[in-house]
Amino acid sequence: MEEGLCENSVPGSGSGSGSGSGSGLVDRTRIVEVKPLRSLAPVLPKSLHLSASRRYPSGFPPFVLFEEPQESQPSPPPMPAPIRAFRKPLDEEESPRGVNGGTNMEDVNGKSVDDSPKPSTKPMKSCKSSQKKRTKSQDLVSISGVGGISMAQRDDGDREVVNLVLMTFDSLRRRLCQLEESKELNTIMGTKRPDLRASNVMTNKGFRTNMRRRVGAVPGVEIGDVFFLRMEMCHVGLHGQSMSGIDYMIAKDELQEEPVALSIVSSGVYDNDAEDEDVLIYTGQGENFNKKDKHAVDQKLQRGNLALDKSSHRQNEVRVIRGLRDSVNKSAKVYVYDGLYKIQSSWIEKGKSGGGVFKYKFVRLPGQPSAFGVWKSIQKWKTGSSSRTGLILADLSTGVESIPVSLVNDVDNEKGPSFFTYSNSLRDSKPFSLVQSSYGCNCNKTCVPGDLSCSCIQRNEGDFPYIANGILVSRRPLVHECGPMCKCFPNCKNRVSQTGLKHQMEVFKTENRGWGLRSFDPIRAGTFICEYAGEVIDRANENEYVFDTSRIYNPFKWNYEPSLLEEISSNVTTEDYTIPSPLIISSKNFGNVARYMNHSCSPNVFWQPVLYAENNQYFLHIAFFALRHIPPMTELTYDYGCSDHGDGSSAPQGRKKCLCGSSKCRGSFG
Ligand SMILES: [Zn+2]
Ligand SMILES: [Zn+2]
Ligand SMILES: [Zn+2]
Repeated sequence: MEEGLCENSVPGSGSGSGSGSGSGLVDRTRIVEVKPLRSLAPVLPKSLHLSASRRYPSGFPPFVLFEEPQESQPSPPPMPAPIRAFRKPLDEEESPRGVNGGTNMEDVNGKSVDDSPKPSTKPMKSCKSSQKKRTKSQDLVSISGVGGISMAQRDDGDREVVNLVLMTFDSLRRRLCQLEESKELNTIMGTKRPDLRASNVMTNKGFRTNMRRRVGAVPGVEIGDVFFLRMEMCHVGLHGQSMSGIDYMIAKDELQEEPVALSIVSSGVYDNDAEDEDVLIYTGQGENFNKKDKHAVDQKLQRGNLALDKSSHRQNEVRVIRGLRDSVNKSAKVYVYDGLYKIQSSWIEKGKSGGGVFKYKFVRLPGQPSAFGVWKSIQKWKTGSSSRTGLILADLSTGVESIPVSLVNDVDNEKGPSFFTYSNSLRDSKPFSLVQSSYGCNCNKTCVPGDLSCSCIQRNEGDFPYIANGILVSRRPLVHECGPMCKCFPNCKNRVSQTGLKHQMEVFKTENRGWGLRSFDPIRAGTFICEYAGEVIDRANENEYVFDTSRIYNPFKWNYEPSLLEEISSNVTTEDYTIPSPLIISSKNFGNVARYMNHSCSPNVFWQPVLYAENNQYFLHIAFFALRHIPPMTELTYDYGCSDHGDGSSAPQGRKKCLCGSSKCRGSFG
């Protein structure tokens, strides 16, 4: 929805941006760094997980170049003359919201920026230390452990900073969507679009990273990362244009200055037709039809098109982002970062209207982890055009879930987990002890955000806990959902955790941690994943297949920061859960996909207590939500916490060695 607006405002066809008189002039006041081009060669971040031997050398042998007849130059010079890099002049048309502009902190800080002290990073609290069970909100550390973005981090990010920027942006966007849907969003900032508002806040508060424009990989952004809005890619420096499909900067040597392409975003409609997942035929930008006098026009070799042309000569690496249809929200797009490509050839084709259209053949550099390739495989498995290697069962849920849950082992010979009965409900629940005057709301058909006469909304302190597509806005002490005793219809938007799986799930054998859970579909932050189903028990006698609210959990901040939304007076919603007595669920004999989610010290999923009434009683449920955007085929994990032995410590003998592999690993859990 949000994205559509963004894209619709781009005139022209194909993946490019609109035409218009782009100024070819370079604003010399914006010179920010003077470096030989050599220094622009990408440094592969550790995050790429490439072994040193698999790294392609910086002088990567070029492909067969220039299929078209070229001037006297048979191949690009192996080492170009020193070239000075310029920040691309702020182009109002291409970044109307100042996303790409902002204030140029770099101008004043220059290189000394790196010497500035980093913000004190609060370490994540470990279960090992004697820790109070309930942590006050103000003690919560952000998920990344970083309190803010330093000047140096605005220039060059890392994984933690990228995550912090993305999660901060999405938390603001969710809150602004919530206000917008309940018609509480004012127009102080000139727009009601929550994504633009959130984006403006991020830019104004300096919540951005990788603002130093660069050729090649972007520190902290990993191949396969998914984005749900073009803005998100702007904020982390992956693609600096919120609308145009081509991002470039001006490079200058002794004799000339010329544009160099940095990244492209394929529209996903015209560009993904190529069978080969490592090849992308990209359409240049610009109008192809003059609406005024109704005749075909050729695309012009200027701006982005010129940059691609120059980059094809220069053979620099270009980041490629593939735009794809979101399988869960069909009207929206998902963007996957597919790594580095080079332009192998270019030509001019006749477009639909008869005018000339530029085509560029992008070829992916070898040795990079698969990203778009994974999506293509999933597509084939879903349509049945290729069979899933290692498939044991097509539907582990035996029809209980509306979307089949496949069981796969492509690691060893184990034929599946030990026997259990698939069930997606909670058995032997004890009623919630809170005294209640009513067991549901009297709303007609569906509960409406902002309708304070709805008793379920009242219980959520006036907030509707979910926004469109069932996305949770904030972690809360309890989420009060509508239930069977409410007058509203079962499709009321306040029943998210009762509507079953939304994604095609797969139970798979992990390399070293038994069975795990992952999704064929990308999962947006805040999206409901599943409930923890099973039998409610009094005491956990064993550690396996048990969920226990009385464990000690690492605090983390997920909710929006009210101080970033200055115009809104808001009560800070605590992220501590309110559970009067422990809820312990065993999924050993009965359970759903949740029983396969493994522990991680750096998880991508969190749990949230949800309450609703059935048969004149309230029952507590545990619902899992995506902590961040999760790419397809990524293992889903949550923090298992540590057992509480009453004295605030947890017995080391009951703990398991943690194999989560995250940089924040605490070493053990359980
Ligand atoms: Zn309702
Ligand atoms: Zn209601
Ligand atoms: Zn209700």
